[in-house]
This record gives sequence, C-alpha cells and structure tokens, in this order.
Amino acid sequence: MYDALIIGSGPAGMTAALYAGRSNLKVGIIEQGAPGGQMNNTSDIENYPGFEAISGPELSMKMYEPLEKFGVENIYGIVERVEDHGDFKRVLTSDEYYDAKTIILATGAKHRLVGVPGEEEFNSRGVSYCAVCDGAFFRGQDLLVVGGGDSAVEEAIYLTQFANKVTIVHRRDELRAQKILQDRAFANEKIDFIWDSVVQEIKGDDVKVRSVDIKNVKTKEVTNHEFGGVFVYVGLDPVSEMVTDLGITNETGWIITDKDMKTSLDGIYAIGDIRQKDLRQITTAVGDGAVAGQQVYKYITEHA
Ligand code: FAD
Ligand code: NAP
Repeated sequence: MYDALIIGSGPAGMTAALYAGRSNLKVGIIEQGAPGGQMNNTSDIENYPGFEAISGPELSMKMYEPLEKFGVENIYGIVERVEDHGDFKRVLTSDEYYDAKTIILATGAKHRLVGVPGEEEFNSRGVSYCAVCDGAFFRGQDLLVVGGGDSAVEEAIYLTQFANKVTIVHRRDELRAQKILQDRAFANEKIDFIWDSVVQEIKGDDVKVRSVDIKNVKTKEVTNHEFGGVFVYVGLDPVSEMVTDLGITNETGWIITDKDMKTSLDGIYAIGDIRQKDLRQITTAVGDGAVAGQQVYKYITEHA
C-alpha cells in the first residue's frame, strides 16, 4: 500500500513525488514512457526560472535525478483505470494493479488532431506533431505548420534551422501565441503566413506528403501548395480517460480541483495540464505538484 501513487512523470508528477518523498511517505510514480512528459518534445525552454535557456530533455533529467534519493519508486505502466474504494484507491494497468491511500493524477494533455483527410494516412510519412523529434528529417524542405498558439509559433521558429521555408497556416488573422514569440516569427525571414485559412486535405504518394489543400475561410477559395512536411499544433486534449467513471472532470474532460489540488473525491488530487486552468506551463505544473505533494502528507497524517 503506497501512501501516494502519482500517475505521470511530467514536471507536475515529478514535483509532487519530490515533495511527498521528502516527507518520508511511501511514494510510487507510474509512467508509460520516459520521465519529462511534454518537456521531452520541447527544444529550448526560456521561461523556467533559473535558466536562461535549457533544453526540455535536460530539464527533465534534472527533475528526475533527485527522486531516487528520496525513495520514490518508479513504476513502468500504462494506467487504464483508477478506482475509488474510500480508504484506499486502486490503479489498474493492463496487467497489474497498485493500491494507495492517495492518488495524484498528473497525466497531462495530448496533441489534438486537425481531423482532415490525409492526416492519419501520412502520419510519420510527412505529418508530425513533434518538431524536436522529427524536424531534422526535413532538411532543405518547405514545411507547413498548422495552428496559431505558442506551440505552433515556437516550433515553426525551431524548424527554420532545418527547413528551406516554414509557412504557418492559421484560421484567423491574428496569432494566439505570446507577443515575444510572435515578434520572433515575424522577424524570421524563413517564416511566412497564410491567414484566415485551414487545411482541407493533406496529399501525397506511396512515399510521403507532397502537397496540402488550403481553404480560405472567408473567400472559401481552395488552393494547393507543395510542402514536404506538415507539423500540426492545434491545441491539446486532456488525458483523463482513466478517471471518466469517477465524475471528477468537466464536460470536456479536464479535471476540476480546488486551490489545494483536491478533486471532489477525498484523497484524489490532480495537478498540471490535466487540471481545468488558464495557464498551462512548466512553472504552473511544478507549482501544482508542490501543493499536492504537501497536501497528501497532510492527508496521511490526519488519517493515520
Ligand atoms: P505532461 O508534461 O504532459 O506529462 C504527463 C505525463 O503523464 C507524460 O509523461 C505521460 O507519458 C504520462 N501519462 C499520460 N497518460 C498516462 C497513462 N495512462 N499511464 C501512465 N502515464 C501516463 N511550457 C513552458 O513553460 N515553457 C515552454 O517553453 C513550453 N514549450 C512547450 C512546447 C510544446 C510543443 C508543448 C506541447 C508544450 C510546451 N509547454 C511549455 C507546456 C508544458 O510542456 C506543459 O505545461 C507541461 O509539460 C505540463 O506538465 P504535466 O506534468 O502536467 O504534463
Ligand atoms: P493552444 O494555445 O490551445 O493553441 C491552439 C491553436 O490552434 C490556436 O491558435 C487555435 O486557433 C488553433 N486551432 C485549434 N483547433 C484548430 C483546428 N481544428 N484547425 C485549425 N486551427 C486550430 O495550444 P498550444 O499552442 O499547443 O499550447 C498549449 C499550452 O502549452 C498553452 O497553455 C501554451 O501557453 C503552452 N505552451 C507554452 C509555450 C511557452 O511558454 N513557450 C510553448 C508551447 C506551449 P485559435 O487561436 O483561433 O483558437
């Protein structure tokens, strides 16, 4: 029986593990991949205090390394369901189950699909959701980035080191991204924009993507443009399927908590991007994790 079982080792989960581990609780953290979560898909992080700039994978390792010292147990597994049995909670993976007095949900969010013909067909054959992972495969090519938020603009800038040209297609005539990223993109000679437009179809041959049909949402005109790759950054959806039955999410799947990261169920907490909140960042994820790590200590001592 764990005192605290954390699901997901992104920045939120690793911080909760650090705080709960330092309180001498028996802590486990279940992760389906490498520690770091979305940070592993991020090139340069410039808004994490203490570092002028640091790569996502490097910051991931810096957060991960101290956990062992505080006795945090790393468990590999893909969590399929969480059950609330009152005094204890059960976490089920495909072939194991784990019991804990408290659960901290830190499963983050996953990239959303743009949902057009060709997107699935050409996935990994020119369609990508991760510039850091795939950008280097597209040296010298013309690339399309879909979306207008921080991810689209930041990753478009990143891609210019490999690409001949990067075009950002956005459904409005104004970006959602932070001003500093906008300024950098506008100043970058390798980046151009197609405004008020959406991707209608991604086309290619047996090998890879060759072109994209783009529709202007105002004029309804559809034009075909040659691109060697398409990077999709149209937002995120919550990873909360494992708690759908618990009734702790809102209508779009984000988990609702109070200021102490408590859900409506006693002993179940949620932190980081998976929460219903306004600012999804590494700093806010680690802040949530610190609060939850402290709260589970309080819960365990009050229920001893
Ligand atoms: P995540 O980082 O998403 O981690 C969740 C973890 O849970 C993952 O490791 C996942 O594998 C695991 N998991 C999910 N489901 C299961 C399951 N069923 N079983 C087991 N494990 C599971 N923020 C900044 O502050 N600065 C930036 O420069 C920045 N750049 C970004 C660039 C991109 C392209 C993106 C997409 C985001 C960026 N962000 C940035 C946002 C930041 O990465 C997130 O806010 C942050 O990672 C959220 O942390 P988290 O721990 O809540 O979730
Ligand atoms: P986001 O902020 O939700 O932006 C999604 C973008 O995609 C928006 O511009 C949206 O258009 C567009 N879009 C949504 N659905 C679309 C569709 N079906 N077709 C075409 N366009 C569509 O998502 P994000 O950029 O991935 O960012 C996610 C979170 O991570 C945010 O909190 C962000 O701040 C954070 N992040 C931070 C950094 C950083 O701090 N450097 C970097 C990356 C991400 P509209 O604008 O019209 O809605």
